Amino acid sequence: AKRDGRNGFHLFSPSADDAAIARLKLENDMRRAIPNGEFVLHYQPVVEAGTHRISSVEALVRWDRGEEGLVRPDLFIPVAEESGLIVPLGEQLLEQACRQLQRWRGTALEGVRIAVNASTVQLREKEFAAKLANLLERYDVSGHQLELEITESTLMTDSERMLGMLEQIKALGLGISIDDFGTGYSSLSYLKRFPVDTVKVDRSFVRDMEEDSSDRELIRAILAMSRSLELKVIAEGVETEGQASILAEMGCPYLQGYLFAKPSDPASLLTFANSHSRP
Ligand code: C2E
Ligand code: CA
Ligand code: CA
Ligand code: CA
Repeated sequence: AKRDGRNGFHLFSPSADDAAIARLKLENDMRRAIPNGEFVLHYQPVVEAGTHRISSVEALVRWDRGEEGLVRPDLFIPVAEESGLIVPLGEQLLEQACRQLQRWRGTALEGVRIAVNASTVQLREKEFAAKLANLLERYDVSGHQLELEITESTLMTDSERMLGMLEQIKALGLGISIDDFGTGYSSLSYLKRFPVDTVKVDRSFVRDMEEDSSDRELIRAILAMSRSLELKVIAEGVETEGQASILAEMGCPYLQGYLFAKPSDPASLLTFANSHSRP
């Protein structure tokens, strides 16, 4: 029971308390796991629609809990964002990506860009761009080798300041992609106003596109808009040959999804790259 301000006591169900305790435990575990190096990046290729050659890779975080296995981000990113732990975690992941770019020199993955997911909480940090500049310098990596994936809602929170931050990031050479495009409420004017390079068509539209003509029309509209705004388009969550061929026919230049490759650790990615070598 907890004390209620107005009228005495209020009973909370045990399950609500259990959930709060579990969340707190998760947060504490994360706090220890970050310096312990338990968060690792896996990489999923984005391929050219025509040739299926790797054009870039998306970095996706996993929590390596040893015997308990790999934990998917949906289970801990929200807690990391609420607690602010996403800031030190995000920095560590950006550093991992820079180190990876350095290691790929002289391999089949040399020159492949890494797209890193960044949350609003990270981008609201005044120091974000300066820390990024420092990382690029320390790892001798060009900003052009990195992209940041943000969502439409990031553009819409504190837009004025966000615009300033994104311009600083662009000035370092990074590309900016809008993730899960089509699910938010941003308008064309946002895409024009912000320094955006790429839109990623949300998986939900790709999933049903073979049966649902309205999803196909929506993708067609995104492609037409992107051509006139000179944006690159990546379709996410491509799982079937049917989806891939309709998307290629529609003129979608880049595809990503299980059909081509699942996210994998750096060693497996290199094996994949060696069998899908680039020109
Ligand atoms: P997202 O950025 O939209 O990432 C795409 C998700 O779709 C990934 O899930 C990926 O494994 C999955 N996926 C890729 N291809 C397919 C497919 O063909 N079919 C299906 N069904 N799924 C596919 P994942 O790795 O579990 O990541 C979930 C979300 O967690 C990401 O969604 C992103 O929002 C967040 N996330 C992942 N890594 C990071 C990170 O380093 N930082 C932050 N802030 N968020 C991250
Ligand atoms: Ca993403
Ligand atoms: Ca996405
Ligand atoms: Ca997402």
